Amino acid sequence: MALFTLAALSELIADKLPTAPNRTAPLGLGARVAFGLLCGAAIAIASHQQVWLGALLGLCGSMAGSFGGFQARGRLVKALKWPDLVIALVEDAVAIGGAFFVVTRFKRMTPPKSTSQSHYDAIVIGSGQAGTPLSQALASFGMHTALIEREHVGGTCINEGCTPTKTMVASGRVAYLARRAADYGVHVGSPKIDMLRVRKRKRDIVNLFRGGSQRRVERTANLELIFGQAEFASPNSILVRDKKRQEHIFTADRFFLNAGCRPAVPNLSGLKDISFLDSTSIMELNALPEHLLILGGGYIGLEFGQLFRRLGSKVTIVQSGPTLLTREDPDVAEAVAEILKEDGIQILLDARVEKVARHGNRVHLKIRLGGKMRSVEGSHLLVATGRIPNSDTLNLSAARIDTDERGFIRVNERLETSTPNIYALGDIKRRSCIHTHLLRRLPHHFARILSIRDTRPPPAGSFHTRFH
Ligand SMILES: Cc1cc2nc3c(=O)[nH]c(=O)nc-3n(C[C@H](O)[C@H](O)[C@H](O)COP(=O)(O)OP(=O)(O)OC[C@H]3O[C@@H](n4cnc5c(N)ncnc54)[C@H](O)[C@@H]3O)c2cc1C
Repeated sequence: MALFTLAALSELIADKLPTAPNRTAPLGLGARVAFGLLCGAAIAIASHQQVWLGALLGLCGSMAGSFGGFQARGRLVKALKWPDLVIALVEDAVAIGGAFFVVTRFKRMTPPKSTSQSHYDAIVIGSGQAGTPLSQALASFGMHTALIEREHVGGTCINEGCTPTKTMVASGRVAYLARRAADYGVHVGSPKIDMLRVRKRKRDIVNLFRGGSQRRVERTANLELIFGQAEFASPNSILVRDKKRQEHIFTADRFFLNAGCRPAVPNLSGLKDISFLDSTSIMELNALPEHLLILGGGYIGLEFGQLFRRLGSKVTIVQSGPTLLTREDPDVAEAVAEILKEDGIQILLDARVEKVARHGNRVHLKIRLGGKMRSVEGSHLLVATGRIPNSDTLNLSAARIDTDERGFIRVNERLETSTPNIYALGDIKRRSCIHTHLLRRLPHHFARILSIRDTRPPPAGSFHTRFH
């Protein structure tokens, strides 16, 4: 590449020298052809095209330059009264611009180049708790399978959900127990929190789990791991855009959609004008918030509320409904609220946030509470008001896949979508009520659906998320 570029540059410079043969006579054809070839090849390689295309372009360019360029340039010098050098520069600019134009047009017309085989028996989109074991199982059933992941193997649970939260919760629990140590007859003094150390421990465990998961996928025979963002091109093909923005088309007999959810951002006055935390960015803080305001009293809001309270922050949870954890039985929600209050967390129920603002380094919430307006102020704001499906990233309309009004994919009891041979699993599908760790059982379910005799033992162990 460097050699081609150097040759191309020297051709362009040599052409401007007063002694250059084509500035005095249409000579040096062989040299110009050779340099032109190299010049075109350099352009082609730079554009990730095949060398022969660049060489052809270069050949045409240099022949045209040698035969017609000298005559034409001579006439232009006379007509425009511009120095020969200026005209030579314009000529080069037009030639290079034209070559790039042709190369990029050609690139769009050419079917995307792929290093991987482009047809699979099965493609799984998303390497979450459901997709990863499923892809391994499909491969072990003898199906040539691809697992497409746009970011990290392991999905939300390993990278932004269960694993990092439980790791940090373990730090919070140690701080909590240290504070209560005297009750157990142990005197340790008051704990100091080193958030950089808490975060590093969380990052290390996430990396360990992610790496292990990725290695297991890579070691699975019959399974290809492809990094890139996938979307449907038709009911039996997807387009995958990789990190270098290269596009690849893959087809498959069956697709399994496991693209998960992401944090929702509510439509609140002033929210889009300020910086706030979500369930991912809060775990990247390098210092403890002085006073954490949390919008949302679901399981994510409560988990972070208790964690940061135990680490030492003041915490206020603002919940729009009459209880916390609206999907749980009221007595369970009440018992949880009591535990949090005992820890010193302030809980505001039936509280509607009407405006959010930041003044200096303080966040201000205007809240309607019991018919009255009230202001609450803190140092940080965590928005934990639910999660929305990543179905909008998949161009589902190209495959005629139905979703509900919130974007969750509709499936039947066999996890089939509205399009034959396309299945949806995990959080992206409507009414996801399976505990994350039960998703590991899905391969057995699909073995039944696909009429495959699954001789593997059922997944072992309990499905509890451990404290790390
Ligand atoms: C803070 C937090 C804590 C949690 N704690 C727990 C817990 O303790 N216990 C529990 O059971 N559950 C917990 N959960 C929920 C759990 O993480 C999810 O239910 C689970 O991860 C969903 O798994 P999934 O397989 O549906 O999708 P995900 O794990 O979300 O995986 C989806 C994958 O698809 C990829 N993807 C998305 N779009 C595309 C695309 N177009 N192309 C290619 N790839 C794509 C994403 O990058 C991602 O890797 C928690 C969630 C959060 C946010």
